[in-house]
Amino acid sequence: MRYKAVVVLLLLAAPATAQVRKEIRFPDPPGYQVLKCDFHMHTVFSDGLVWPTVRVDEAWREGLDAIAITDHVEYRPHKEEVIGNHNRPYELAEGLARHRNILLVRGAEITRDTPPGHFNVFFTQDNQPLDVKDFYEVFDRATAQKAFIMWNHPGWQGPERGRWGEEQTRLLEKRQLHAIEICNGDEYYAEAHRMATDRGLPMMGSSDIHEPAPTDGQEAAGHRTMTLVLAKDKSLPALREALDAGRTIVWYRNLLIGRAPQLKAVFDACVRVESLHPPQAKTSYVKLTNQCDNDIELERSEPGQPRKITIPAHVSVMVRLSGPDGQAAERVAYKVLNFLTGVDQPLTVEIAIPRPASQPAAAAAAAG
Ligand SMILES: [Zn+2]
Ligand SMILES: [Zn+2]
Repeated sequence: MRYKAVVVLLLLAAPATAQVRKEIRFPDPPGYQVLKCDFHMHTVFSDGLVWPTVRVDEAWREGLDAIAITDHVEYRPHKEEVIGNHNRPYELAEGLARHRNILLVRGAEITRDTPPGHFNVFFTQDNQPLDVKDFYEVFDRATAQKAFIMWNHPGWQGPERGRWGEEQTRLLEKRQLHAIEICNGDEYYAEAHRMATDRGLPMMGSSDIHEPAPTDGQEAAGHRTMTLVLAKDKSLPALREALDAGRTIVWYRNLLIGRAPQLKAVFDACVRVESLHPPQAKTSYVKLTNQCDNDIELERSEPGQPRKITIPAHVSVMVRLSGPDGQAAERVAYKVLNFLTGVDQPLTVEIAIPRPASQPAAAAAAAG
């Protein structure tokens, strides 16, 4: 009896075990699914402070769809205690990832002095052969496994040491460099952003998290730095196809950074435009609704009113839009100040002003 009472008490005292997931909301553009991805993070198998399964739980809690655990191959400060090989982080996390429906990509971080710096290889089959001294040999071996290769945090040790070097040129020529991490944790590297746009390489953003993620899910920016990937479905092959096609957008603080077609597709999916009133002689009243987790900051790119419109995340605003001559317009052009297609280059969008819903016949008759 006494024993049973203790068990009951223990059960009552046990904390709720339900895990809470904070969903990230970016509506899907037609034909695509917006996958929220982080392809750069560490565990105790290199210089991180958590076990691999913890990264999966954190990803689930923070609303991610896909992750790569990318422990350093050459730098393992806990190797006396944590003796598993370079595949163990993936193998240990794989079962839980499947259970949580998180796509887990096998990967590792190639860690050389800067320059040439650090590179993440992911979509590998076996990380063991990557533990080799010769710099170029690593990439030949990764490419033999059809890995996707990203140059990490180019500006980490300052713009001078993070410059594009002969190693990057040679890797690019050998098709062994596929993307550049332009945002890493709390940092944005304008130079790296320029390198990516100049060479047409996909832009990536990641957390490079080493410590446990904050348990309340509240980073200063409200979300971790990540890459939004426009994939045809939520699967590893679709994710890889989208990366190869460069359909990536970096979500960093209150900025979305990518190529114009993807940013445009996400903008169109996020912003709903509705007519509120029949058009007046000079103005159109519209309701603009922001259906995504990022604020949208607009600035008119032609004469006309209003000059600026801010639509906070998940909020609607009503505005009176007028054309360049002060008259009602069918379309108006705006710059999206926090959607960047290049360094300091905002996306330009055209907002088509919908016709008001047709008047009910009775009302029309009464008005006539
Ligand atoms: Zn690194
Ligand atoms: Zn790292």
